[in-house]
Amino acid sequence: MPEFGKYTKELKKLIEEANHILLICHINPDGDAIGAMLALRRWIIAQGRDAGMISPNALQQFLLWMDEVDKIVDFHHNIEVGGKLISEADLIIMVDFNSSSRMGKAEQLVLASKAKKVMIDHHPDPAQFADLIISDVSRSSTSELIYFLVNGMEGAEFNDSEFITAVYVGIITDTGNFEHGYYTGDTMRTVGHLLDMGVEKERIFNHIFSNFSPDRIRLKGYSLHSRMVVHPDLHTAYIWLTKEDLERFNHVKGDTEGFANVLLTMRGIVLSVLFVERSGFVKMSLRSKGSFNANVLSRQCFNGGGHRNAAGGEMKGTIHEVVRHFENTLPSYRNELEEAATEMIK
Ligand code: 5GP
Ligand code: MN
Repeated sequence: MPEFGKYTKELKKLIEEANHILLICHINPDGDAIGAMLALRRWIIAQGRDAGMISPNALQQFLLWMDEVDKIVDFHHNIEVGGKLISEADLIIMVDFNSSSRMGKAEQLVLASKAKKVMIDHHPDPAQFADLIISDVSRSSTSELIYFLVNGMEGAEFNDSEFITAVYVGIITDTGNFEHGYYTGDTMRTVGHLLDMGVEKERIFNHIFSNFSPDRIRLKGYSLHSRMVVHPDLHTAYIWLTKEDLERFNHVKGDTEGFANVLLTMRGIVLSVLFVERSGFVKMSLRSKGSFNANVLSRQCFNGGGHRNAAGGEMKGTIHEVVRHFENTLPSYRNELEEAATEMIK
């Protein structure tokens, strides 16, 4: 990102001048959203300051072990406390999202607030709803970006152990422990430093990736066995799950995380989608390989967004209606799918 130093300076100045700082992440927060928020707050605390934290809705169980997560206000269940934090804030720092709708029910209050707003994010094409936009798509995660921003503001390595843990959580979440996503030499040098500083990589890995219930493992087996559709000619595979499927396996939030990634391990597949039926709408997760742009498909087909190789969206209707819509649209991407599949086996 050009002029990184300028952004660091501006962010530091805004933090120094603010009386009430609020950090907010996106709805259904993942490890990167929470990691980025906790990491930045840790540095703010080290400056002798404080910062409130809001998540638009509840955190998933696999993140609850993190230090100070209990200080994050779940806006959905605590509108009064969250609303007060927003109205008191004179600086709102939004992390890990690029469109205001990702703040869920907190969106209107935040947009109406007179506080200075900062966006720190790594998704492409940020919408212009902040005074300072620090957007860097070349980062594996917002947490990696926060690592560089904080070290820039600190003027040295900030080696606080909770900071290091939070940054590591964000990086391994968004890269699936370096299996997918976008990561660079910078990411690995950062990880190298975190390891040198003694980050507890096994403990963190176990919390995030080895923390599933028997029901979740069975739901995964069922999805792959009974709910998987493959279109070899279109290099696409998807899984569709009804509300009844979820009930049958006592689904809890986060149980379907990673299902779409499994489909990409199939030979010749460059696009995978997981459709999950909710009440009156369907939530989808898209994953892709190489040049196939899941972000564009998600925007065009499902009013969603995300990154080139990992995107998501929502659509009103039953699972059958939404899957039919997808089936009807998919052939129009045939050339792009072919191209990405050819590159894979070059
Ligand atoms: P996931 O499939 O893990 O929920 O999301 C993958 C990526 O797509 C994430 O970067 C996330 O921010 C983005 N994403 C997921 N759902 C939505 C959505 O409904 N709208 C938009 N704009 N992005 C989404
Ligand atoms: Mn992220």
